[in-house]
Amino acid sequence: MIIGVPKESYPGERRVALVPVVIPNLTKAGFKVIVEAGAGSEAGYPDSHYTDKGARIVSGRAEVFSQAEIILQVLCYGSNDVTGKADLPLMRRGQLLIGFLRPLGSVEVLQQIAATGVTSFAVELMPRTTRAQSMDALSSMATLCGYKAVLLAAVTLPKIFPMLTTAAGTITPGRVFVIGAGVAGLQAIATARRLGAVVSAYDMRPAAKEQVQSLGGRFVELAIEAKDAQDARGYGTAQDEGFYAKQRELLARAVAENDVVITTAVVPGKKAPVLITADMVKQMAPGSVIVDLAAERGGNCELTRSGEVITADGVTIIGRINLASQVPYHASQMYARNLTAFLTYLVKDGKPQLDGNDEIVRETMVTRDGEIANARVREFFKLPAEVRSQ
Ligand code: NAD
Repeated sequence: MIIGVPKESYPGERRVALVPVVIPNLTKAGFKVIVEAGAGSEAGYPDSHYTDKGARIVSGRAEVFSQAEIILQVLCYGSNDVTGKADLPLMRRGQLLIGFLRPLGSVEVLQQIAATGVTSFAVELMPRTTRAQSMDALSSMATLCGYKAVLLAAVTLPKIFPMLTTAAGTITPGRVFVIGAGVAGLQAIATARRLGAVVSAYDMRPAAKEQVQSLGGRFVELAIEAKDAQDARGYGTAQDEGFYAKQRELLARAVAENDVVITTAVVPGKKAPVLITADMVKQMAPGSVIVDLAAERGGNCELTRSGEVITADGVTIIGRINLASQVPYHASQMYARNLTAFLTYLVKDGKPQLDGNDEIVRETMVTRDGEIANARVREFFKLPAEVRSQ
Protein backbone atom coordinates (compact mmCIF):
# COMPACT_ATOMS: atom_id res chain seq x y z
CA MET A 1 0.00 0.00 0.00
CA ILE A 2 1.12 3.55 -0.67
CA ILE A 3 1.36 5.91 2.27
CA GLY A 4 1.12 9.63 1.44
CA VAL A 5 2.36 12.44 3.64
CA PRO A 6 1.04 15.88 2.67
CA LYS A 7 2.67 19.05 3.95
CA GLU A 8 0.80 20.34 7.00
CA SER A 9 -1.33 23.32 6.05
CA TYR A 10 -2.49 24.73 9.42
CA PRO A 11 -0.91 28.20 9.78
CA GLY A 12 2.30 27.98 11.84
CA GLU A 13 2.25 24.18 11.99
CA ARG A 14 5.83 22.97 11.64
CA ARG A 15 5.47 19.26 12.31
CA VAL A 16 5.30 16.51 9.70
CA ALA A 17 3.55 13.14 10.05
CA LEU A 18 6.49 10.92 9.06
CA VAL A 19 10.23 11.41 9.48
CA PRO A 20 12.89 9.74 7.33
CA VAL A 21 14.14 7.37 10.05
CA VAL A 22 10.87 5.36 10.14
CA ILE A 23 10.67 4.81 6.38
CA PRO A 24 12.85 1.66 6.27
CA ASN A 25 10.56 0.07 8.91
CA LEU A 26 7.53 0.87 6.79
CA THR A 27 9.21 -0.39 3.62
CA LYS A 28 10.10 -3.62 5.39
CA ALA A 29 6.45 -3.97 6.36
CA GLY A 30 5.50 -3.72 2.67
CA PHE A 31 4.52 -0.03 2.39
CA LYS A 32 5.70 2.51 -0.16
CA VAL A 33 5.97 6.10 1.03
CA ILE A 34 5.38 9.30 -0.93
CA VAL A 35 5.96 12.70 0.62
CA GLU A 36 4.84 16.12 -0.60
CA ALA A 37 7.85 18.27 -1.49
CA GLY A 38 8.95 20.37 1.47
CA ALA A 39 6.68 18.54 3.94
CA GLY A 40 9.45 18.02 6.48
CA SER A 41 11.56 21.09 5.86
CA GLU A 42 10.25 23.18 8.77
CA ALA A 43 10.76 20.29 11.17
CA GLY A 44 14.40 19.85 10.10
CA TYR A 45 13.90 17.05 7.55
CA PRO A 46 14.77 18.11 3.98
CA ASP A 47 13.37 16.19 1.00
CA SER A 48 16.74 14.55 0.33
CA HIS A 49 16.65 12.80 3.72
CA TYR A 50 13.35 11.17 2.74
CA THR A 51 14.63 10.03 -0.64
CA ASP A 52 17.81 8.70 0.99
CA LYS A 53 15.60 6.41 3.06
CA GLY A 54 13.57 5.22 0.08
CA ALA A 55 10.61 7.60 -0.10
CA ARG A 56 9.49 9.35 -3.27
CA ILE A 57 8.91 13.11 -3.31
CA VAL A 58 5.72 14.27 -5.04
CA SER A 59 5.22 17.86 -6.06
CA GLY A 60 1.62 18.68 -5.14
CA ARG A 61 -0.89 18.00 -2.39
CA ALA A 62 -3.53 16.72 -4.82
CA GLU A 63 -1.00 14.20 -6.21
CA VAL A 64 -0.30 12.87 -2.73
CA PHE A 65 -4.00 12.33 -2.07
CA SER A 66 -4.67 10.78 -5.47
CA GLN A 67 -1.71 8.37 -5.42
CA ALA A 68 -1.83 7.24 -1.79
CA GLU A 69 -4.14 4.69 -0.24
CA ILE A 70 -3.25 5.87 3.26
CA ILE A 71 -2.92 9.55 4.14
CA LEU A 72 -0.95 10.46 7.27
CA GLN A 73 -1.31 13.92 8.69
CA VAL A 74 -0.66 15.68 11.95
CA LEU A 75 -3.67 18.01 11.86
CA CYS A 76 -6.41 16.64 9.61
CA TYR A 77 -9.58 18.54 8.82
CA GLY A 78 -11.34 18.56 12.16
CA SER A 79 -8.34 19.58 14.22
CA ASN A 80 -7.29 21.90 11.39
CA ASP A 81 -10.29 24.22 11.33
CA VAL A 82 -8.50 26.90 9.32
CA THR A 83 -7.34 25.28 6.08
CA GLY A 84 -8.33 21.64 6.56
CA LYS A 85 -11.60 21.87 4.66
CA ALA A 86 -9.71 22.20 1.39
CA ASP A 87 -8.70 18.53 1.75
CA LEU A 88 -12.30 17.26 1.60
CA PRO A 89 -12.53 17.07 -2.21
CA LEU A 90 -9.19 15.22 -2.26
CA MET A 91 -10.40 12.38 -0.01
CA ARG A 92 -11.98 9.30 -1.51
CA ARG A 93 -13.96 6.23 -0.58
CA GLY A 94 -11.94 3.49 1.09
CA GLN A 95 -8.83 5.64 1.49
CA LEU A 96 -7.40 5.60 5.02
CA LEU A 97 -6.87 8.91 6.81
CA ILE A 98 -4.95 8.95 10.08
CA GLY A 99 -4.16 11.94 12.29
CA PHE A 100 -5.53 14.36 14.87
CA LEU A 101 -9.21 14.76 13.95
CA ARG A 102 -10.68 16.37 17.08
CA PRO A 103 -13.31 13.63 17.18
CA LEU A 104 -15.35 15.24 19.95
CA GLY A 105 -15.20 18.68 18.32
CA SER A 106 -17.80 19.31 15.62
CA VAL A 107 -20.27 16.68 14.44
CA GLU A 108 -20.86 18.62 11.19
CA VAL A 109 -17.17 18.39 10.34
CA LEU A 110 -17.12 14.66 11.09
CA GLN A 111 -20.16 14.20 8.87
CA GLN A 112 -18.41 16.05 6.05
CA ILE A 113 -15.39 13.78 6.42
CA ALA A 114 -17.64 10.71 6.56
CA ALA A 115 -19.44 11.83 3.38
CA THR A 116 -16.22 11.53 1.39
CA GLY A 117 -16.23 7.79 2.16
CA VAL A 118 -12.77 7.97 3.68
CA THR A 119 -11.98 5.56 6.53
CA SER A 120 -10.60 7.90 9.16
CA PHE A 121 -8.79 7.24 12.43
CA ALA A 122 -8.38 9.78 15.22
CA VAL A 123 -5.14 9.34 17.14
CA GLU A 124 -6.76 11.15 20.07
CA LEU A 125 -8.96 8.11 20.66
CA MET A 126 -6.12 5.63 21.08
CA PRO A 127 -6.98 3.45 24.08
CA ARG A 128 -4.69 3.79 27.08
CA THR A 129 -3.62 0.19 27.22
CA THR A 130 -0.19 -1.36 27.40
CA ARG A 131 -0.59 -2.69 23.85
CA ALA A 132 -1.40 0.75 22.46
CA GLN A 133 1.20 2.66 24.45
CA SER A 134 3.64 2.89 21.54
CA MET A 135 0.83 4.41 19.40
CA ASP A 136 -0.23 7.06 21.93
CA ALA A 137 0.36 10.34 20.09
CA LEU A 138 -1.56 12.37 22.64
CA SER A 139 0.96 11.43 25.33
CA SER A 140 3.89 12.15 23.00
CA MET A 141 2.64 15.65 22.27
CA ALA A 142 1.62 16.33 25.89
CA THR A 143 5.14 15.46 27.03
CA LEU A 144 6.61 18.08 24.70
CA CYS A 145 3.99 20.67 25.67
CA GLY A 146 4.87 20.24 29.34
CA TYR A 147 8.55 20.71 28.58
CA LYS A 148 8.02 23.74 26.36
CA ALA A 149 5.63 25.39 28.82
CA VAL A 150 8.37 25.49 31.44
CA LEU A 151 10.87 26.96 29.00
CA LEU A 152 8.40 29.67 27.98
CA ALA A 153 7.79 30.50 31.63
CA ALA A 154 11.52 30.57 32.36
CA VAL A 155 12.32 33.07 29.61
CA THR A 156 9.35 35.27 30.52
CA LEU A 157 9.84 35.37 34.29
CA PRO A 158 12.05 38.28 35.39
CA LYS A 159 13.76 35.87 37.81
CA ILE A 160 15.93 32.80 37.39
CA PHE A 161 14.84 29.33 38.47
CA PRO A 162 17.86 27.96 40.37
CA MET A 163 19.05 28.94 43.80
CA LEU A 164 22.45 30.63 43.59
CA THR A 165 24.87 31.38 46.35
CA THR A 166 27.22 34.03 45.02
CA ALA A 167 29.52 36.77 46.27
CA ALA A 168 26.66 39.11 45.44
CA GLY A 169 24.40 37.29 47.82
CA THR A 170 22.00 34.39 47.71
CA ILE A 171 19.26 34.12 45.15
CA THR A 172 16.23 32.16 46.24
CA PRO A 173 14.93 29.56 43.79
CA GLY A 174 11.94 30.20 41.56
CA ARG A 175 8.67 28.60 42.64
CA VAL A 176 6.62 26.70 40.09
CA PHE A 177 3.12 25.36 40.71
CA VAL A 178 1.62 22.86 38.27
CA ILE A 179 -2.16 22.35 38.22
CA GLY A 180 -3.08 19.06 36.55
CA ALA A 181 -0.44 16.35 36.89
CA GLY A 182 -1.17 14.25 33.82
CA VAL A 183 1.39 13.62 31.10
CA ALA A 184 2.07 17.31 30.35
CA GLY A 185 2.01 18.29 34.00
CA LEU A 186 4.45 15.58 35.03
CA GLN A 187 6.89 16.59 32.29
CA ALA A 188 6.55 20.21 33.40
CA ILE A 189 7.42 19.17 36.96
CA ALA A 190 10.49 17.24 35.78
CA THR A 191 11.67 20.09 33.52
CA ALA A 192 11.20 22.80 36.15
CA ARG A 193 13.06 20.67 38.69
CA ARG A 194 15.97 20.23 36.28
CA LEU A 195 16.17 24.01 35.96
CA GLY A 196 16.41 24.27 39.73
CA ALA A 197 12.93 25.51 40.65
CA VAL A 198 11.06 24.49 43.75
CA VAL A 199 8.07 22.66 42.34
CA SER A 200 4.65 21.82 43.73
CA ALA A 201 1.67 20.34 41.95
CA TYR A 202 -1.98 19.51 42.37
CA ASP A 203 -4.35 17.17 40.61
CA MET A 204 -7.85 16.12 41.58
CA ARG A 205 -6.92 12.47 40.87
CA PRO A 206 -5.47 11.05 44.10
CA ALA A 207 -3.29 8.68 42.01
CA ALA A 208 -1.26 11.68 40.84
CA LYS A 209 0.18 12.31 44.31
CA GLU A 210 2.73 9.52 44.17
CA GLN A 211 3.80 10.45 40.61
CA VAL A 212 4.35 14.09 41.60
CA GLN A 213 6.39 13.07 44.61
CA SER A 214 8.47 10.59 42.62
CA LEU A 215 9.60 13.51 40.43
CA GLY A 216 10.63 15.53 43.45
CA GLY A 217 7.55 17.77 43.49
CA ARG A 218 5.52 18.58 46.57
CA PHE A 219 1.91 17.49 46.23
CA VAL A 220 -0.55 20.18 47.28
CA GLU A 221 -3.46 18.60 49.11
CA LEU A 222 -6.79 20.39 49.01
CA ALA A 223 -9.56 19.73 51.49
CA ILE A 224 -11.91 18.63 48.74
CA GLU A 225 -12.49 15.28 47.11
CA ALA A 226 -13.59 14.78 43.52
CA LYS A 227 -16.40 12.32 42.85
CA ASP A 228 -15.09 9.46 40.69
CA ALA A 229 -12.02 11.58 39.92
CA GLN A 230 -10.72 9.23 37.24
CA ASP A 231 -12.59 7.38 34.50
CA ALA A 232 -11.82 3.89 33.22
CA ARG A 233 -9.42 5.28 30.63
CA GLY A 234 -7.38 7.15 33.25
CA TYR A 235 -8.72 10.62 32.39
CA GLY A 236 -9.94 13.13 34.93
CA THR A 237 -13.73 13.46 34.98
CA ALA A 238 -15.96 16.53 34.75
CA GLN A 239 -17.13 17.87 38.11
CA ASP A 240 -19.96 20.23 38.95
CA GLU A 241 -19.56 23.99 39.24
CA GLY A 242 -19.74 23.77 43.06
CA PHE A 243 -16.61 21.61 43.04
CA TYR A 244 -14.74 24.02 40.78
CA ALA A 245 -15.78 27.00 42.93
CA LYS A 246 -14.39 25.26 46.01
CA GLN A 247 -11.20 24.35 44.11
CA ARG A 248 -10.66 27.98 43.14
CA GLU A 249 -11.07 29.07 46.74
CA LEU A 250 -8.58 26.48 47.98
CA LEU A 251 -6.09 27.01 45.17
CA ALA A 252 -5.89 30.80 45.64
CA ARG A 253 -3.13 30.65 48.22
CA ALA A 254 -0.90 28.26 46.30
CA VAL A 255 -1.34 30.35 43.13
CA ALA A 256 -0.42 33.58 44.95
CA GLU A 257 2.67 32.03 46.53
CA ASN A 258 4.27 30.92 43.26
CA ASP A 259 6.24 32.74 40.57
CA VAL A 260 5.01 30.47 37.80
CA VAL A 261 1.75 28.57 37.48
CA ILE A 262 1.39 26.01 34.71
CA THR A 263 -2.13 24.75 34.17
CA THR A 264 -3.01 21.59 32.27
CA ALA A 265 -6.41 20.61 33.70
CA VAL A 266 -8.68 19.29 30.97
CA VAL A 267 -11.50 16.80 30.63
CA PRO A 268 -11.98 15.05 27.26
CA GLY A 269 -14.77 16.61 25.19
CA LYS A 270 -15.48 19.37 27.71
CA LYS A 271 -14.51 23.00 28.07
CA ALA A 272 -11.58 23.26 30.50
CA PRO A 273 -12.60 24.20 34.07
CA VAL A 274 -11.73 27.73 35.20
CA LEU A 275 -9.45 27.24 38.19
CA ILE A 276 -7.78 30.68 38.31
CA THR A 277 -9.99 33.75 38.42
CA ALA A 278 -9.07 37.36 37.62
CA ASP A 279 -9.06 38.01 41.37
CA MET A 280 -6.57 35.22 41.94
CA VAL A 281 -4.31 36.73 39.25
CA LYS A 282 -4.43 40.04 41.15
CA GLN A 283 -3.06 38.29 44.23
CA MET A 284 0.06 37.12 42.36
CA ALA A 285 3.29 39.11 42.57
CA PRO A 286 4.01 41.39 39.61
CA GLY A 287 6.20 39.63 37.05
CA SER A 288 4.62 36.24 37.74
CA VAL A 289 3.78 34.02 34.80
CA ILE A 290 0.87 31.70 34.04
CA VAL A 291 1.25 29.25 31.18
CA ASP A 292 -2.20 27.91 30.36
CA LEU A 293 -1.84 24.67 28.43
CA ALA A 294 -5.62 24.37 28.43
CA ALA A 295 -5.91 27.61 26.39
CA GLU A 296 -7.20 25.86 23.28
CA ARG A 297 -9.97 24.27 25.32
CA GLY A 298 -11.16 27.54 26.85
CA GLY A 299 -8.36 27.92 29.40
CA ASN A 300 -7.93 27.19 33.11
CA CYS A 301 -7.45 30.89 33.81
CA GLU A 302 -10.37 33.25 33.40
CA LEU A 303 -8.16 35.83 31.65
CA THR A 304 -6.43 33.49 29.18
CA ARG A 305 -6.86 34.38 25.53
CA SER A 306 -6.36 31.38 23.30
CA GLY A 307 -3.31 31.78 21.08
CA GLU A 308 -2.22 35.02 22.77
CA VAL A 309 0.12 36.33 25.43
CA ILE A 310 -1.41 39.04 27.61
CA THR A 311 -0.47 40.94 30.74
CA ALA A 312 -2.94 41.59 33.54
CA ASP A 313 -2.03 43.25 36.84
CA GLY A 314 1.65 42.72 36.01
CA VAL A 315 1.16 38.96 35.45
CA THR A 316 1.95 37.50 32.04
CA ILE A 317 -0.63 34.95 30.93
CA ILE A 318 0.59 32.77 28.10
CA GLY A 319 -2.25 31.16 26.14
CA ARG A 320 -0.21 29.99 23.19
CA ILE A 321 -1.56 26.89 21.55
CA ASN A 322 0.01 24.03 19.66
CA LEU A 323 3.24 24.15 21.67
CA ALA A 324 4.37 20.75 20.38
CA SER A 325 4.75 22.42 16.99
CA GLN A 326 7.43 24.63 18.58
CA VAL A 327 9.68 21.59 18.94
CA PRO A 328 8.88 20.17 15.51
CA TYR A 329 11.91 17.92 15.08
CA HIS A 330 11.23 15.72 18.07
CA ALA A 331 7.47 16.16 17.94
CA SER A 332 7.52 14.78 14.38
CA GLN A 333 9.88 11.99 15.35
CA MET A 334 7.68 10.86 18.24
CA TYR A 335 4.52 11.20 16.18
CA ALA A 336 6.05 9.26 13.27
CA ARG A 337 7.00 6.44 15.63
CA ASN A 338 3.47 6.39 17.06
CA LEU A 339 1.99 6.24 13.55
CA THR A 340 4.41 3.55 12.40
CA ALA A 341 3.45 1.37 15.37
CA PHE A 342 -0.23 1.96 14.58
CA LEU A 343 0.11 1.28 10.85
CA THR A 344 2.08 -1.91 11.22
CA TYR A 345 -0.59 -3.06 13.65
CA LEU A 346 -3.49 -2.03 11.42
CA VAL A 347 -2.28 -3.27 8.05
CA LYS A 348 -1.32 -6.92 7.64
CA ASP A 349 -0.17 -8.42 4.31
CA GLY A 350 -1.10 -5.24 2.47
CA LYS A 351 -4.67 -5.19 3.80
CA PRO A 352 -6.13 -2.95 6.51
CA GLN A 353 -7.62 -5.13 9.25
CA LEU A 354 -10.74 -3.16 10.07
CA ASP A 355 -11.92 -5.63 12.66
CA GLY A 356 -14.55 -4.05 14.89
CA ASN A 357 -13.75 -6.60 17.61
CA ASP A 358 -10.24 -5.24 17.93
CA GLU A 359 -10.15 -2.62 20.67
CA ILE A 360 -7.59 -0.36 18.99
CA VAL A 361 -9.46 -0.34 15.67
CA ARG A 362 -12.87 0.02 17.28
CA GLU A 363 -11.82 2.91 19.50
CA THR A 364 -9.87 4.94 16.93
CA MET A 365 -11.89 4.49 13.73
CA VAL A 366 -14.15 7.51 13.35
CA THR A 367 -15.68 7.24 9.87
CA ARG A 368 -16.19 4.38 7.45
CA ASP A 369 -18.37 3.80 4.36
CA GLY A 370 -19.90 7.27 4.57
CA GLU A 371 -20.90 7.01 8.23
CA ILE A 372 -19.58 8.05 11.63
CA ALA A 373 -18.60 4.55 12.71
CA ASN A 374 -17.43 5.14 16.27
CA ALA A 375 -19.77 4.22 19.13
CA ARG A 376 -18.17 6.65 21.60
CA VAL A 377 -18.34 9.55 19.14
CA ARG A 378 -21.94 8.72 18.20
CA GLU A 379 -22.92 8.59 21.84
CA PHE A 380 -21.11 11.85 22.56
CA PHE A 381 -23.06 13.64 19.81
CA LYS A 382 -26.26 11.79 20.72
CA LEU A 383 -26.49 10.14 17.32
CA PRO A 384 -28.51 6.91 17.20
CA ALA A 385 -26.37 3.79 17.54
CA GLU A 386 -25.10 2.55 14.19
CA VAL A 387 -26.55 -0.70 12.87
CA ARG A 388 -24.00 -2.71 10.88
CA SER A 389 -24.91 -5.72 8.86
CA GLN A 390 -21.52 -7.41 9.11
P1 NAD B 1 -5.46 15.11 30.45
O1 NAD B 1 -4.58 15.82 29.48
O2 NAD B 1 -6.81 14.69 30.01
O3 NAD B 1 -5.63 16.04 31.75
C1 NAD B 1 -4.54 16.59 32.42
C2 NAD B 1 -4.73 16.44 33.92
O4 NAD B 1 -5.70 17.38 34.38
C3 NAD B 1 -5.22 15.07 34.38
O5 NAD B 1 -4.25 14.52 35.26
C4 NAD B 1 -6.54 15.37 35.09
O6 NAD B 1 -6.75 14.55 36.22
C5 NAD B 1 -6.34 16.81 35.50
N1 NAD B 1 -7.58 17.53 35.81
C6 NAD B 1 -8.75 17.58 35.11
N2 NAD B 1 -9.63 18.37 35.74
C7 NAD B 1 -9.02 18.83 36.87
C8 NAD B 1 -9.42 19.68 37.93
N3 NAD B 1 -10.64 20.23 37.98
N4 NAD B 1 -8.53 19.92 38.92
C9 NAD B 1 -7.29 19.36 38.90
N5 NAD B 1 -6.87 18.56 37.93
C10 NAD B 1 -7.71 18.29 36.92
O7 NAD B 1 -4.74 13.85 31.06
P2 NAD B 1 -3.44 13.08 30.56
O8 NAD B 1 -2.27 13.92 30.74
O9 NAD B 1 -3.70 12.58 29.20
O10 NAD B 1 -3.32 11.83 31.56
C11 NAD B 1 -4.24 11.45 32.54
C12 NAD B 1 -3.75 10.13 33.20
O11 NAD B 1 -3.66 9.06 32.26
C13 NAD B 1 -2.37 10.23 33.82
O12 NAD B 1 -2.38 9.52 35.03
C14 NAD B 1 -1.48 9.51 32.84
O13 NAD B 1 -0.32 9.01 33.44
C15 NAD B 1 -2.41 8.42 32.37
N6 NAD B 1 -1.96 7.88 31.07
C16 NAD B 1 -1.90 6.54 30.90
C17 NAD B 1 -1.48 5.99 29.69
C18 NAD B 1 -1.40 4.51 29.49
O14 NAD B 1 -1.69 3.78 30.40
N7 NAD B 1 -1.04 4.04 28.32
C19 NAD B 1 -1.14 6.83 28.65
C20 NAD B 1 -1.21 8.21 28.84
C21 NAD B 1 -1.64 8.72 30.07
